[in-house]
Amino acid sequence: MDAKRKKELKEILVEMKNDKIAEIRQNKDEMTSADGYQNDAQDFADTATNIYDKELHQDLTEKNKKLLMDIEEALSKIEEGRFGKCDKCGKDISIERLKAIPFSKNCIKCQTGAEKK
Ligand SMILES: [Zn+2]
Repeated sequence: MDAKRKKELKEILVEMKNDKIAEIRQNKDEMTSADGYQNDAQDFADTATNIYDKELHQDLTEKNKKLLMDIEEALSKIEEGRFGKCDKCGKDISIERLKAIPFSKNCIKCQTGAEKK
């Protein structure tokens, strides 16, 4: 992979990383305010909605954290010069795939294989 492309992908990854961090922070804030609201609301339906909201936020935060870890990993791979190789078979991941998902760990072949299981 040439240096220019690598730099491009790195910039995309850094941007994604910042986005995810902001999203996680925002989610945390919303979760905290939902907690405050729950104390006032004694109505069961309201409470149930709040619990649902909270779970949804927690779920989202978990997903974002996982994604953030993948992004971090991709960034360290760029630094170490291991970027763009499939974790499973060691072959190059296609640039089309990397453009769509810069933090891909597997080539399309291994990925489809993994999803089928
Ligand atoms: Zn592979």
